[in-house]
Amino acid sequence: MGPGRGHYPDRVPTRYDLDRDELGEQLAGEPRYRVDQVWHGLYGERRDLSELTALPRALRERLDRDLPPALRPVAESVSDGGDTVKWLWALPDGATIETVLMHYPDRSTVCVSTQAGCAMACGFCATGQAGFERNLSTGEIVEQVVLAWRRSEAASPSRRLSNVVFMGMGEPLANYDRLWPAVTRLHDDLGLGARHLTISTVGIVPGIRRLSAESLPVNLAVSLHAANDTLRDELVPINRRYPLGALREALESYREVKNRRLSFEWALIDGVNDRGTDAEELAAYARPLGAHVNLIPLNPTPGWPTTGSPPARVRAFRDLLRDLRVNATVRANRGTDIDAACGQLRTTHGAGPGPTPVALQPRP
Ligand code: SAH
Repeated sequence: MGPGRGHYPDRVPTRYDLDRDELGEQLAGEPRYRVDQVWHGLYGERRDLSELTALPRALRERLDRDLPPALRPVAESVSDGGDTVKWLWALPDGATIETVLMHYPDRSTVCVSTQAGCAMACGFCATGQAGFERNLSTGEIVEQVVLAWRRSEAASPSRRLSNVVFMGMGEPLANYDRLWPAVTRLHDDLGLGARHLTISTVGIVPGIRRLSAESLPVNLAVSLHAANDTLRDELVPINRRYPLGALREALESYREVKNRRLSFEWALIDGVNDRGTDAEELAAYARPLGAHVNLIPLNPTPGWPTTGSPPARVRAFRDLLRDLRVNATVRANRGTDIDAACGQLRTTHGAGPGPTPVALQPRP
């Protein structure tokens, strides 16, 4: 198995790691139509290999054994009256990741992880506090979507999985070589449209440039949180390497090439980035880019001393942005009671607290 195919050459590939050619290699000696049959079972029907009863039993059992699943359920929690489901999975090497499925009246969205841990070290984020463990393989990413899809289907036909956001644990663009094959698999084989796929990034400029060169126009969300370099250096440390000016240039060209609306994530932190001047800086940055702003009050995490802005300030901040002619919405906070909210993943189940974050001083 050659490099760049999205999985670890030194590890047994899991069932969603293989591309079609690799599946063909697994099925060497079988009639050619078997590849289509198994592929259809995995992607078209999203069934377990052990359930592919159209296959001869011995073959089915061999595949089930030789191509193990990547995700073993460790814990599952349900909240919001059944509308939010969070899973904690163990990977074959024991690393753990989380996936969150959210049903809305008009769509069902799964939030997937792309790394076990994260190296970006944003102090307010639970995953950042715990540090980096490893990149996920393509199959480990794809299987999260397939399992969420299965659950969605089982819930009700009207709750068919429609959207995927790469906003779980990890920085997607720091795992580009395994992320992108996963994106194309979701698009080509699961049939999810590019405008239903959203990659969320801290703003890794070379990754954004690579995305611009891909043919699929996926949505791009950037976790901005601050629109001046001094504060952003502190909140999102990768800003020291890719400051706001360089980020702006990469975003301008993404927008030009893809013709897609950009969005910015802004976690409102009490007294830190929720003032009038913050809204003005944000508006000055977002407006020329035609970006939409998603506001979310910061979720509390164990290793961070600051808290989210109170609801009235959140609304005032949104109104201020609107007055400044920037589209802004306040994002509903899902799964808070099961630690499934943004930035809270892995706060329970024994992931260590990680490095002690530096306290943020409210600005005068
Ligand atoms: N690394 C990627 C994707 C994962 S984080 C990124 O940074 O975009 C998904 C989103 O949750 C990001 O916007 C991140 O900044 C935000 N987030 C992290 N911790 C949070 C917290 N405690 N409260 C609110 N949002 C948080």
